[in-house]
Amino acid sequence: METLTTQKINRETEKTIHQLPVNQVYSDLETAISGLPKTEAALRLKAYGSNTIQEVKGKPLIWKFLSNFTHLMAILLWIGGIIGFIAQLPQLGIAIWLVNIINGVFSFMQEFRAEKATEALRKMLPSYARVLRDGEEQRILAEELVPGDVILLAEGDRISADARLVEDADLRCDQSTLTGESHAVKKTKDPVLRPDLARAEEPNLVFAGTNVAAGSGKAIVFATGMSTEFGKIAGMTQSQKEVQSPLQKELKRVTRTVSVMAVSIGVFFFIASILLPNANVAESFIFAMGMIIAFVPEGLLPTVTLSLAMGVQRMAKRNALIKRLSAVETLGCTTIICTDKTGTLTQNEMTVSDLWLANQPFKVTGVGYDSAQGEILADNHPVTQAQNQDLRQLLVAASLCNNARLIPPTDDAPRWTVLGDPTEAAMLVAAQKSGLDLPKEALLTPRLRELPFEARRKRMSTIHQIKDPDSQTVRIAYVKGAPKEVLDLCTHVRRGGQDAPVTEALRTEIISANDGYARSGLRVLAVALRWLTEEATLPASMSAYTPELVEQNLTFLGLVAMADPPRPEVAAAVEKCHHSSIRIIMITGDYGLTAESIARRIGIIGGDHPRILTGIDLEELDDATLKEALGDEVIFARVAPEQKLRVVTALQEMGHVVAVTGDGVNDAPALKKADIGVAMGISGTDVAKEAADMILTDDNFASIVNAVEEGRAVYNNIRKFAVYIFNSNMSEAAPFILFLFSRGSIPLPLTIMQILAMDLGTDMVPAIGLGAELPEAGIMDHPPRSQKEPLLSRQLLLLAFFWYGMLESVISISAYFFLNWQYGWPGVPLADSGTIYRMATTMTLTAIVICQVGVVFNARTHRASVFSIGFFTNRLLLIGIAVELILICILMYVPIFHDLFNTAPLGLSQWAYLIIWAPVIILLDELRKAFLRGWDKRADRKKNSSEEVSK
Ligand code: ATP
Repeated sequence: METLTTQKINRETEKTIHQLPVNQVYSDLETAISGLPKTEAALRLKAYGSNTIQEVKGKPLIWKFLSNFTHLMAILLWIGGIIGFIAQLPQLGIAIWLVNIINGVFSFMQEFRAEKATEALRKMLPSYARVLRDGEEQRILAEELVPGDVILLAEGDRISADARLVEDADLRCDQSTLTGESHAVKKTKDPVLRPDLARAEEPNLVFAGTNVAAGSGKAIVFATGMSTEFGKIAGMTQSQKEVQSPLQKELKRVTRTVSVMAVSIGVFFFIASILLPNANVAESFIFAMGMIIAFVPEGLLPTVTLSLAMGVQRMAKRNALIKRLSAVETLGCTTIICTDKTGTLTQNEMTVSDLWLANQPFKVTGVGYDSAQGEILADNHPVTQAQNQDLRQLLVAASLCNNARLIPPTDDAPRWTVLGDPTEAAMLVAAQKSGLDLPKEALLTPRLRELPFEARRKRMSTIHQIKDPDSQTVRIAYVKGAPKEVLDLCTHVRRGGQDAPVTEALRTEIISANDGYARSGLRVLAVALRWLTEEATLPASMSAYTPELVEQNLTFLGLVAMADPPRPEVAAAVEKCHHSSIRIIMITGDYGLTAESIARRIGIIGGDHPRILTGIDLEELDDATLKEALGDEVIFARVAPEQKLRVVTALQEMGHVVAVTGDGVNDAPALKKADIGVAMGISGTDVAKEAADMILTDDNFASIVNAVEEGRAVYNNIRKFAVYIFNSNMSEAAPFILFLFSRGSIPLPLTIMQILAMDLGTDMVPAIGLGAELPEAGIMDHPPRSQKEPLLSRQLLLLAFFWYGMLESVISISAYFFLNWQYGWPGVPLADSGTIYRMATTMTLTAIVICQVGVVFNARTHRASVFSIGFFTNRLLLIGIAVELILICILMYVPIFHDLFNTAPLGLSQWAYLIIWAPVIILLDELRKAFLRGWDKRADRKKNSSEEVSK
């Protein structure tokens, strides 16, 4: 094997690989049926490098940096600075420019942090490949694939390297990423000698970046990383841009509107003030700039982006990976969660509890995948496969028509685990409990072909070579799948060692046994066989075996019923949803009675008569009737994944914001259509993960509800800091209004530089702290917010400008007058000369900062008392407040800042006056919140009593 590692793959081999017969593919790529040895794979990894596509650099960093200085607001500030210079106020000009620079740098840093956070998340989603190495099937990181690796492909896999097929079973690939062709193309292993085909059209090659749409196969890697077809065109496909979320768009619009308003107000007051008698143009200009700077919410947009990114990080810690920032806010509006059952609501840890032959039921004891813990009982007596031929036949078929593997305990994993489908693994365990020697059976009955499981067919089949009772080598098909669907294909039933024709009575007996198990929440599968001895069932090529050909005239062998207990945390999550008026609709491929039983157990269904609609019912319902059904308690059972799309569309047309779970290839359209597509991280296919907005790393329903909670929290936090940022704007503007209305007789109580110091210094860090608030208690007790509700609602603006804003304005102006009063006002003119005036403006400035300390605590809760959440529970916020206070002290006590910021040191008496306002503001707001809570309670009581009356 040395040649390939040292010489690298021969270009000629790569070019002609599609023409080679399968054997030569193995030899030319220096590999074997059992795959590469691990040591050779490691050597090749060194020689070829990792299987990754080098990232095409996005916009250069410097451009991203500069774009923070060229948006509308920044341009206005640049112009403002120039006007400052023209008006012979260089200090002001420099200050305005400085603001612009600080603001730009700050925005850039926020964006950069947000970008890094999302990048880190992307890395949390590694892709894997299944390979054969040293004869063993393994799951490895896709980046570790090397030429010569034998990869195994199954429905829904994303293919990670270019490879030549050596085995195929109805394999179809979706190559749209490469060719733009939307329907899946058939792939076969046979050599191709046609010269007219483009590379991507070669039917025996599969390509990196494409997906397996159906079937399965085995292929040998011949190109990795940048040598793949995908690598070659990577530059074209990598320019995916993060679309802005509705919230970000809204904020951009709001910032623009507010900026235009601020400039208009500034211009209006500028004109008004120069029309005053004794007008001073320079003062009027300062005044206008003050109004503009006070009202423009400079830090809002980058802080929102960062807050969304922080929300995404928090969600990741709670097992929900968000792929787009915008999904965070949509999550908060979710009104309906459509969820599947197996693995999401249940543990997907299957244990066969019952077996049923047409003349006898059996119990299977033990839980989990350890076959030493349990046995098979007939009438409470242990029984083995050797003692009952029908039982043996059922279990042989169930364990050969099977792709799962049981993994013994290791030091890392002390319990038996499974590789593959837990449903199938459970069958292997039951077979072993009966004493069946699985490796021996597999050796005696080698598999020739598989017709893989498809959610649409709800069954799978395998074809084997076997010795018949006369020791002739013949073929046999084993089929397992959903009971009714399999029974419909059966002509005979195995009963007491004989094959009896299916009669209506037998059919009823089987269905009622199935329903009995299903009613107690068990998942039931039927197993059947067919001898392939007739001429028509012996085609020359294995690939001629299709489900239509094989899956008919079957002999029913029995039922296998397995328990899949609900996840323990799901019932509480369902309860949370009920509280917050989020509806849950189960859409499962499983049987209606099983689904209903589980739904009832975890509280999704409460009524006595839920509607159970099957896939067949769905086909017959028109849209209007479907919508009517969706108004009631309803479960969708035995539906094909593609039917989810219809349910989602109907719900969206009814005005719902829909989250949908999915894991298979056919779930992709519904995942894309949904407002929030949720894919399963463990059991989901790569295709589903690609289509989804959110990936659950633990496949757990409770994680969706946690994510909804976080989504609501993020939105609330954004509102909180919007309130916080806007309220200081009011108190920043108030001194200028006072100045104007007193016609200049009250000296300006707050200077522009002081406004800038607050907007871009003291206010910033606590605002970020608000973005890190944890979800408020009771956040899931309210119905979801309407998606149409604007972020800056009238309520929010009233609260910010007129409640907090007015309070803060009155307090800060009073602080200004307090200092004047200390120095003799009204006897002596208002803050006349240098130091007193500076002290007075420092009082206004510090008063606003102190009020902001109170307000930042107030803003932490919507209705709840701040005392109930505690003052020390948000570290970032406390750090923010500390920074804020240190900054104000620096401005006040470090002499070099005095001239620029018009500040002066304050004494104890002044501090005593100022400090008192923080608790006062908190207590006043507590009164407001208590009043609102009382109001809410009264409204609730009224609602409840009117509901009772109407009942
Ligand atoms: P959910 O949609 O809630 O995850 P599910 O796993 O039952 O539930 P599907 O995966 O669509 O849904 O399976 C549909 C049906 O197909 C199952 O109820 C079962 O009867 C049958 N089935 C599932 N897995 C297999 C398998 N490996 N082999 C044969 N039949 C299967």
